[in-house]
Amino acid sequence: MRYISTRGAAPAVGFAEALLAGLAPDGGLYVPETWPRFTSDEIAAFAGKPYAEVAAAVVGRFVGDALPKGEVERIAAEAYATFAHPAVTPITQLDSNLWLLELFHGPTLAFKDVAMQLLARLYDRVLEKTGRTLTIVCATSGDTGGAAVEAFRGAKHARIAVLFPEGRISEVQRRFMTTTAEANVACVAVEGTFDDCQAIVKSLFADEDFRTAVDLSGVNSINWARVAAQAVYYFTAAVALGAPHRPIGFCIPTGNFGDAFAGYVAMQMGLPIARMIVATNSNDIVARAFQTGRYERGQVVATQSPAMDIQVASNFERLYFEAVGRDAADTARAFEGFGKGGAIALPTQAFADLRKLFTGEAVDEAQTSAEMAATLAETGEIIDPHTAVAMTAAKRAGASATPLVVLSTAHPAKFPEAVEEATGQAPAIHARSKDLFKLTEKIDRLPADAGAVKAYVRRFAGA
Ligand SMILES: *Cc1c(COP(=O)(O)O)cnc(C)c1O
Repeated sequence: MRYISTRGAAPAVGFAEALLAGLAPDGGLYVPETWPRFTSDEIAAFAGKPYAEVAAAVVGRFVGDALPKGEVERIAAEAYATFAHPAVTPITQLDSNLWLLELFHGPTLAFKDVAMQLLARLYDRVLEKTGRTLTIVCATSGDTGGAAVEAFRGAKHARIAVLFPEGRISEVQRRFMTTTAEANVACVAVEGTFDDCQAIVKSLFADEDFRTAVDLSGVNSINWARVAAQAVYYFTAAVALGAPHRPIGFCIPTGNFGDAFAGYVAMQMGLPIARMIVATNSNDIVARAFQTGRYERGQVVATQSPAMDIQVASNFERLYFEAVGRDAADTARAFEGFGKGGAIALPTQAFADLRKLFTGEAVDEAQTSAEMAATLAETGEIIDPHTAVAMTAAKRAGASATPLVVLSTAHPAKFPEAVEEATGQAPAIHARSKDLFKLTEKIDRLPADAGAVKAYVRRFAGA
């Protein structure tokens, strides 16, 4: 399997290179040269299989011959043994045709673990053969950082520096990153927003000297292997509800558009997906794009669903590339223009095609709180604010004969203040977050300035 850049000016690479590079050198994102497909029979045969087996089958198509099949199976088995639920990502029925897909049973209680546990093991295996030690720099809106630190702490072939927006993430989120004693982990509070953190990481990648000096690598949701790992639960959930014999709808709480794009990937691989409802909080760039055809940056505002406080949804570039028939010149022009002007008008035909599958819904703070209370009253389930954003959007879509699966991306115990304020009920403290409050935090502080971050990371990498 070869990977090409959405901007067309970087050479095609193999899986290992796409995995370690994150961003392509021309500023684009890697996508597979062609979509691997499963037949209907192959998809049907996923029914009843352990999660790790389906993961090895799906991700294995993207790994190709970069690792032996048995290795991928072993990595998947190890990765998903860290989850607290035997089904890994179980589904719960809430109404006659409404389901919750629980993606929060991993070590840091958010869906980022699903991909990160697999990713760290893939890194380890790929790097073992090279003797390199990479420096991972990662911007986080809250959950990626914790999942990445948990997955990479103590890694032999990688060190990791995490940048998070100071004061804009929950205490539990922060402590999942900052309480690790391992020397290969650094946590940096940046005086700015998540978009500032992400822009800094992008500029580190754009600096060739720096990239080489520290052997820079990225594990943000633009990393192809993360998207591939997230496609897996679309298969397991859909098959449990009758796919491929009937189509299934999904509703996804969205920030950087990685999770939603993974659903699109599952569809390209042959899974019948009837519709995708993309839900945002007040940071609604993606919702607006699907409503109006204009992908246009707005001001970031802080919300109770901080993992989605994003106004530049990096993975949207991959969808755009597909929607314009994989025209890399068009994609490069559009996203280089977006970097300067902050807006893209989707071409008419592309927008019309996307609208057949996607709807966008923005959900404000009051609606999010009301939904946490309503879901508790109606079903007895406590949901976190991110899930509540999606649940609100799912209910707006109304009843349908097609099963609708709402992705539940974080455990409510990760956002106890917001949950208690909305429902009057504090979520029980989760066994996995209990000890975090006894441990000492290790945090460095930096201004939102690429130069300062570069100097810091050079020191951290000993470069
Ligand atoms: C990261 C995250 C999201 C958004 O996922 P994207 O792939 O960035 O769209 C939603 N909910 C939670 C809890 C998250 O951590």
